[in-house]
Amino acid sequence: MTPEEVLARLTELRRADAPTHGGRVLSYVYDSGRPELDALAAEAARLVQPLNALDPTTFGSVAVMEREVVGFVRDLVHGGPDVVGNATSGGTESCLLAVHTARRVWRGEGTPRLVAPATVHAAFHKAAEYFGLHLDLVPVDADGAVSATDVVDLLAADVALVVLSAPSYPHGVLDPVGEVAEATSARGIALHVDACFGGLALPFWPDLPEWDFRVPGVTSLSADLHKFGYAPKGASVLLQRGRNRHRAQYFATTRWPGYPVVNPTLLGSKPAGPLAAAWAIVNVLGPEGFAELADSCRRSTRILIDEVARIDGLRVVGSPVGPLLAVATDESNPAGRRVDPHHWADEVRAEGFLLQLQPASAQAGGPRLPRTTHLTVTPVTERVLPELLPALAEAADRARGVPGADATGALATLGDVPETVDADTAAALLTGFGIGGGGALPDRLAPLLALIEALPAPLAERLLTELLARLVEPTALS
Ligand SMILES: *Cc1c(COP(=O)(O)O)cnc(C)c1O
Repeated sequence: MTPEEVLARLTELRRADAPTHGGRVLSYVYDSGRPELDALAAEAARLVQPLNALDPTTFGSVAVMEREVVGFVRDLVHGGPDVVGNATSGGTESCLLAVHTARRVWRGEGTPRLVAPATVHAAFHKAAEYFGLHLDLVPVDADGAVSATDVVDLLAADVALVVLSAPSYPHGVLDPVGEVAEATSARGIALHVDACFGGLALPFWPDLPEWDFRVPGVTSLSADLHKFGYAPKGASVLLQRGRNRHRAQYFATTRWPGYPVVNPTLLGSKPAGPLAAAWAIVNVLGPEGFAELADSCRRSTRILIDEVARIDGLRVVGSPVGPLLAVATDESNPAGRRVDPHHWADEVRAEGFLLQLQPASAQAGGPRLPRTTHLTVTPVTERVLPELLPALAEAADRARGVPGADATGALATLGDVPETVDADTAAALLTGFGIGGGGALPDRLAPLLALIEALPAPLAERLLTELLARLVEPTALS
């Protein structure tokens, strides 16, 4: 193919993607609504495209950008001169490294525990699995709030790390950082604040209890630049309190015949593009620019919360802190006037807006959390409110009284499922459920989510793995 043909094909492929701009997708993408920032980010990334950020001694620009970006975020979250850190490739990498570091600093024996509310981001499930910690989840109430006492009651010498969210991704709960920190610091236990979502928005939210490095017991904090930092994907910051703790994050070896390796993060060779893009954006916006964009998010979130409260049959879960909300069925309504949040999301999708479905989830020792639909609010949301608000109301009108999807019937046809499911069996099961034939995803997601809720978690996880793996079965170039 000629370069022109290649680019034409990519343009064609991109047409099938969900729209990244314009406020139609209320998760995954964080649109500042300022196209000049995207252009700036692209130009900055292009300037450093050939670099290898593996070695900031060879490519000094990387070190300059990294210390300035880390310094900017440190100021926003009130870190003093004892707080240092790194740019990472994203929230998951920041979270993985926070756990890895805490595990190395921990002085106990046996398998260390990671204690966190059940709403903690899945990245910490991944970290516990990767690094061999026991994940000890604290049940939350039906609105996703955790009691500080319940967290503190689980503290003991085998706890390597406590993680709290600012705010939690599923429901927007700001966890009780101050209360828990008193107990963890008294016992010398590390406390990570996962502000991947809120790190660049909550600094501009009024009247919040302290949730960042103002709290003395907070030992590390993650904040994503590719969320409310409006940078393209691949940019986050992990801050550590104390240079000694920070150094435990590093991997270094001279014990191989190649170059001496010193890696602060998981990757070896790595791009400088996302860092350069994030650096350019924070330089142009400054704290005032971020404050303006956060204000816009806050106004829109308020309006959306009020609108959902007005819709008969739906309710907002709890009182979200930050630019997001989760919506559940209003169970106080009679069945005929309830709105299932997943049918609602599917109806909203038909109106051209993509919301994010979250399955109901069981908790050991706590109430079952209802299925919800998540909306992440970004600055561009304010511009589409005139279309979004009626779309939300009309979608609810169409979904009202329709019982929620239930997959227990489909499950009955399943029979005995073997302990371990191989790839072909998994594919056959998916086909049996009418999902994923030919790599296509279903139009309506409510039935798929109902299936996820009804299946035993290991099987649901295996089938979703199959679904996604089949999407990337190798093919020839076209
Ligand atoms: C997004 C997010 C993460 C994970 O970040 P990725 O950038 O998706 O890897 C972790 N925690 C919270 C609270 C998040 O919102």
